[in-house]
Amino acid sequence: MIQTGHMHEINGYRPSRVPKDRVLMHNFVIHGPNWRTGINGFRAWTDSKLHEGFVPCPCGWAGLPHFSYKEHVQRYRDDPKGYQLRVKYQELAHAKVWLEDLSKGPYKWGDPQFGA
Ligand SMILES: [Zn+2]
Repeated sequence: MIQTGHMHEINGYRPSRVPKDRVLMHNFVIHGPNWRTGINGFRAWTDSKLHEGFVPCPCGWAGLPHFSYKEHVQRYRDDPKGYQLRVKYQELAHAKVWLEDLSKGPYKWGDPQFGA
């Protein structure tokens, strides 16, 4: 069990801000910068403190500074183009079934704060 402060799950939406004194984190499920949570098990939350093993994540999700598992961030950093291509396939598959374009939105890959 991960020791947490006061977790708040971001359930089925994409946050537009990170409340003061909170940190935004997401799990290891691949996702695009404009995705809401809940797709294919993509989850995110805020907490009053950073969880152990989490590092700044450069994926650009929601255009907000955030953190993710060290291993997830390393996989992204090792091959950002490959990761982005896998997300594209997920988005195409999702659009076929749900008629929803998950790529739509204002946010781009990479985060200016952490660098792509
Ligand atoms: Zn991220």
